[in-house]
Amino acid sequence: TIRHKNIANLLHERLPKPVVTILQQMGKVGDDLGEDVYLVGGSVRDLFLRSDHLDIDVVVEGDAIEFARAFAQGRDDLRLRTHKKFNTAKLLFDSGLTMDLATARLEYYMSPAALPVVEHSSVKLDLYRRDFTINTMAVRLNGRQFGLLIDFFEAMRDIKEKVIRVLHNLSFVEDPTRVFRAIRFEQRFGFRIGKLTEALIKNAIKIDAFRRLTGSRLFGELKHILEEESVTPAIERLNEFKLLRVFHPALQLTAKQLELLDQAEETLAWYRLSFIDKPLRRWLLYFLALADGLDEQQMTELCQRLGFAPKLREEITEMRAKALRCVNVLQRRAARPSQTFELLRPLGLEFQLLVMAKTSKDYAKKAVSQYLTTMVRVRPELGGQDLKAMGYLPGPLYKQILDTLLAARLDGQVQTRQDEIDLVENRFGQRKGELSY
Ligand code: ATP
Repeated sequence: TIRHKNIANLLHERLPKPVVTILQQMGKVGDDLGEDVYLVGGSVRDLFLRSDHLDIDVVVEGDAIEFARAFAQGRDDLRLRTHKKFNTAKLLFDSGLTMDLATARLEYYMSPAALPVVEHSSVKLDLYRRDFTINTMAVRLNGRQFGLLIDFFEAMRDIKEKVIRVLHNLSFVEDPTRVFRAIRFEQRFGFRIGKLTEALIKNAIKIDAFRRLTGSRLFGELKHILEEESVTPAIERLNEFKLLRVFHPALQLTAKQLELLDQAEETLAWYRLSFIDKPLRRWLLYFLALADGLDEQQMTELCQRLGFAPKLREEITEMRAKALRCVNVLQRRAARPSQTFELLRPLGLEFQLLVMAKTSKDYAKKAVSQYLTTMVRVRPELGGQDLKAMGYLPGPLYKQILDTLLAARLDGQVQTRQDEIDLVENRFGQRKGELSY
């Protein structure tokens, strides 16, 4: 049974006004071209679940590229990108909104009873190829039927029952990445994977359907999971399904591992409140926490399985080793600020946060937080020009002097410009005389 219900009101309620306007305009373009056009996928689902969906998927029963061109004609608020190969188009609006347009071709079948050719709704076929029932709803955007909700596969029932269900039994064999998507959606929405769907996941694991997944697809799914709002429960779920070993056979979720994931979450919560304005790869911190039990060799293997580029692989192995050493030193006893600075400076942000997550001592955590919030901004007052005026010859000595001054600043040994001058002259000698020849 197909449910037909008009949800235009819900569209107006849940979507920003400019988005609704764009959808209405798309309907008009569809009318002009004589093609049906539908809002589909996650954006329809999220009308019922949450409202911050800014990637919008549209399916056209006609040529998506032609449709996109017709829509973009005469507008100056967007850029258009087309993919001939897949017959898809992307609209990138200046506002930040993006829209993906896909083609659903009309398909004709001879009906079994050899009656005339039957026209199948191609949007139905398009929706049937999707991952889960909750992603199969469509909203018609054409003319007077704007807002008509089309639900071929009982998506509304599953949303009400809070359950993730595949559309057919071969779904995971067809595309094993859906297993990870199932877990991601389950955790994100607080849903439950359905009984049959769960059995199908177990079957996919049994036949090791993941073997043929490329590194980059496997990594894509893991990264998506590690970028979700709540990460640890999803990892616990992966562990329940014995899915961690798909990434590496030695990957486990011990109590220690769980504790570290919690610490990583707390560290990220701290980071968010610290207002440090630096791009952070959230997934990388969780990745490092998850793989913390692996030795160097295993870590390299994991990076290889996930298809990491050599540059990322090297960054991870090298920085991780440094971070571990850093944890050990900071943990032993409270370090001087200049020492903390020297230890943390060579590390990338995610690795500095890993150090913070891994240390159990308060003074060590505090050292990292002070590094990130204040120490990185400390500079000596004297600069190269001053050293020149003081008679020092430019060269490697400058770096040595400036590093010495920075360390002294960090440790509170100098406060004023005069303190710095005195320190330099004490440590490196007075050079006034040398200027004369
Ligand atoms: P998110 O909020 O994570 O972006 P989404 O549902 O929009 O969720 P996308 O990955 O952007 O997810 O995919 C868009 C739509 O394409 C989905 O709603 C789903 O119907 C379909 N889809 C994506 N990946 C698959 C897949 N592996 N198999 C089948 N359908 C898929």
